[in-house]
Amino acid sequence: MAERSQTAPEAGNDTGNDDAIGGNVSKYMVLPTGYCGQPKKGHLIFDACFESGNLGRVEQVSEFEYDLFIRPDTCNPRFRVWFNFTVENVKESQRVIFNIVNFSKTKSLYRDGMAPMVKSTSRPKWQRLPPKNVYYYRCPDHKKNYVMSFAFCFDREEDIYQFAYCYPYTYTRFQHYLDSLQKRNMDYFFREQLGQSVQQRQLDLLTITSPDNLREGAEQKVVFITGRVHPGETPSSFVCQGIIDFLVSQHPIARVLREHLVFKIAPMLNPDGVYLGNYRCSLMGFDLNRHWLDPSPWAHPTLHGVKQLIIQMYNDPKTSLEFYIDIHAHSTMMNGFMYGNIFEDEERFQRQAIFPKLLCQNAEDFSYSSTSFNRDAVKAGTGRRFLGGLLDHTSYCYTLEVSFYSYIVGGTTAAVPYTEEAYMKLGRNVARTFLDYYRLNPLVEKVAVPVPRLRKEKPPPYKHPFVRGSASNYPNGKGDKKSSVNYKDPSNPF
Ligand SMILES: [Zn+2]
Repeated sequence: MAERSQTAPEAGNDTGNDDAIGGNVSKYMVLPTGYCGQPKKGHLIFDACFESGNLGRVEQVSEFEYDLFIRPDTCNPRFRVWFNFTVENVKESQRVIFNIVNFSKTKSLYRDGMAPMVKSTSRPKWQRLPPKNVYYYRCPDHKKNYVMSFAFCFDREEDIYQFAYCYPYTYTRFQHYLDSLQKRNMDYFFREQLGQSVQQRQLDLLTITSPDNLREGAEQKVVFITGRVHPGETPSSFVCQGIIDFLVSQHPIARVLREHLVFKIAPMLNPDGVYLGNYRCSLMGFDLNRHWLDPSPWAHPTLHGVKQLIIQMYNDPKTSLEFYIDIHAHSTMMNGFMYGNIFEDEERFQRQAIFPKLLCQNAEDFSYSSTSFNRDAVKAGTGRRFLGGLLDHTSYCYTLEVSFYSYIVGGTTAAVPYTEEAYMKLGRNVARTFLDYYRLNPLVEKVAVPVPRLRKEKPPPYKHPFVRGSASNYPNGKGDKKSSVNYKDPSNPF
């Protein structure tokens, strides 16, 4: 989440366990205590030495039960939330309980029915585990830390299983995505390298606009969007991709938006943290969203690069920077919602509420009532706060948050778990809301006639049938049957 202070109690303040965790486990086979024979099937092998992987340590508690330790963020042991690891060498029908024992937060959507993600080699589509097999509780065996336990039954011996906190979205996936966009040779899509991270990864900047807006001397209305400053907040990337996909499409609304606005998008502000499987920090352990006031070119180079560009645009009389939106994911709240700033100027304050109100009309998962405006001192170093202070009264700066877990549609009480598609749909709705904001709707009909229709928007492909306490709201059997997994219910034998 964007807005949590480093000193907030739930951010944690110790390493969560007595032994320091150096790096990720690497093809680590767990043998029963005292076992001297040959390794065999069922001796689980844990691995997190891959991109965005995170698992620091494994301890076997009993034949069936394993304590798992999240590897803390690099150079910052206080953040332990994201996990992403594989398990192989399983036996068919092998039942296990995994306990994630060293979370650095106490509040969690696990209390509201969130469940870890799973996929396997033969079923490569991510699924949420049934929430009824997930337990979140204060554990006397682990310094009263909050522990998330889940029961699981392996069903295919040859499969490698992967478990993660949320849908992963890696740096490599992002690069491939941008490569594929570039190959389409669209004359309204531009990709440049704005800078490099400490580990020399690309800081990509995209410009999406009609070429007319880029000719010498043209006046530009700019919408600036950033994402993944917090690397574990993977939904940020899905939302961002939804925005980009929509803006480069042939949809009549997208065409009008490109004609009137210049979209500048830096979708991955913390590529090292993403690559390393951190939750909140950069390679050097910095929460980059607390360093906007004075980013250093060597310690926070990606942030420094983006800030320089924004200041340059601010100083250009031909450029009007009208929106800045930084996309995050939230670990305790439902829905999509926004944070904005508080201004003395009442009219500006009112005008700032317009965009989230319009977005609420377009996106069923976006909650205006969860949207809030603040000027807390601890958030002074965030992009939203810093730029809100810098830019003039016609600019609006928001943090867009989206739940790691689910949304509740108005008038109902059932939580609908987010899918990758639902996150992307939120992105598309963010993009189309600019049409309403700038009252460009009448222009859409003009361009709509000769344009082929966009594919009809599909509903989210997968609603999980297992929602704690309200299973009847999710009839089985809809959508995506092919890859649907029926993991055996392992909860009974325990
Ligand atoms: Zn965040």
